Amino acid sequence: MSAGASFYITTPIFYVNDVPHIGHAYTEVAADLLARWHRQAGEDAWLLTGTDEHGQKILRTATANGVTPKEWADRLVETAWKPLLKTVDIKNDDFIRTTDERHEVNAQKFLQHLYDAGHIYTGEYEGFYCVGCEEYKQPSDLIEGTGEFIGQQVCAIHSLPVELLHEKNYFFRMSTFADRLLALYEDDPDFVQPAAARNEVISFVKQGLSDLSISRSSFDWGIKVPWDDSHVVYVWFDALLNYITAAGYGQDDERFSRLWPATHIVGKDILRFHAVIWPAMLMAAGLPVPRRVFGHGWLLVGGEKMSKSKLTGIAPSQITDTFGSDAFRYYFMRAISFGQDGSFSWEDLSARYQSELANGFGNLASRVIAMVVRYCDGEIPVTTAFTDADAAIRATEIRVTDAAGEAISRLAIHEAIASVWELVDELNGYITTQEPWGLAKDPADRDRLDAVLFTAVRGLGTLAVLLSPVVPEACAKLWSALGGEGLVTDQRIDRAWEWTGGTHVSPLEALFPRIEATVG
Ligand SMILES: [Zn+2]
Repeated sequence: MSAGASFYITTPIFYVNDVPHIGHAYTEVAADLLARWHRQAGEDAWLLTGTDEHGQKILRTATANGVTPKEWADRLVETAWKPLLKTVDIKNDDFIRTTDERHEVNAQKFLQHLYDAGHIYTGEYEGFYCVGCEEYKQPSDLIEGTGEFIGQQVCAIHSLPVELLHEKNYFFRMSTFADRLLALYEDDPDFVQPAAARNEVISFVKQGLSDLSISRSSFDWGIKVPWDDSHVVYVWFDALLNYITAAGYGQDDERFSRLWPATHIVGKDILRFHAVIWPAMLMAAGLPVPRRVFGHGWLLVGGEKMSKSKLTGIAPSQITDTFGSDAFRYYFMRAISFGQDGSFSWEDLSARYQSELANGFGNLASRVIAMVVRYCDGEIPVTTAFTDADAAIRATEIRVTDAAGEAISRLAIHEAIASVWELVDELNGYITTQEPWGLAKDPADRDRLDAVLFTAVRGLGTLAVLLSPVVPEACAKLWSALGGEGLVTDQRIDRAWEWTGGTHVSPLEALFPRIEATVG
């Protein structure tokens, strides 16, 4: 991470018809944490999120609800998707909708460019289409239906029958990019991460790529194909372009070249769209491919993937109403190895809240500040007489700052937080062994008391800076109670340990109050 460099990070744009569940919030929090971290490292960080609003399924539900598809999308953006960002404290720099004029106009420019360069041709397509997935299915993607669909072939993801469609389509010559894609995966092993996802993508492309049908003429809710307005652009082709239209493609070359390429955080179920189709589209347009495509795992509840159709969908507000947005962010980023599947349970959330946030971090902050208030009238002591125990804390601050930054550069968010927590644990042990309450009893121990409280306060300052991307609300409160100057979010995270303390502390309310209610 170098100062002033650009770090453009995206979430997938969410299908506006879906109901936000903790899986969506998980992706948002991961991307937001990385953006906040890079911003605090002095980089030009830019977080993009938004909504995917075209396609047949949205047209159908809007019609069923007696409104136009745009009215339907407007309603869901305002009542479901923008509120989700507030619920989990996302600090996005932009929110793009695929119905925005800036998107539609510049997506058309992109398409026209590919057409003029000979990457698009007219063909006939016949295949099984799943409206739920908005994609044609290969026979291997279908399974035998059960229940009311017995005897029919159904989509393996949606368990619903597919439709046999036959249409004249425009096709993108994706097959011609297979060799260039394989060379990309080979030359840049970080392009697709984690490793299991990369291997899967490579073996998929090695089987050979088909050309991609990129238009539909059976309905009209979408971006018009610029040279044939009886067709609309295939919804995935349209949606992927959000990452460049939001960055200024087609209208602000200076901004586009500054931001692009991006790091894409996606669920592993949509990895192929991002790691195969998307870079092929960009290659065809002569644009740089993304910096990195990271496929995170699924959240499992009771062993099943989170989804509303499986009745395991949990609204993020169910968690934040009780535990707060900081606890949501901490729990999912800490408890699950980023990139792997992870199980959510109320019991685990409750246990980690109590032991790690309330007792581990929150209580440490409250105790240290309360002792500075009680023994020093709130004035942070100044001292230079340090022992080996004090120096060990200082060394840990420097070590975990470096280790956490290194983990973040690999997108190993859980490792970064675990590194920082070594400092939480060491400071707690330090307070226990140094016994400042004992030192306070004897005026002869005054210098030693000052050194212990100074060391503890400085350690808390380092924690506030390092944990600010993870638990921003708590760290803002802590920073202010420590008398830190300016905003904690303006402190350099790659030099978190440099902070040497303010002059006064002020009393601190519990950062993570005890939760009495039983939940779940
Ligand atoms: Zn499906």
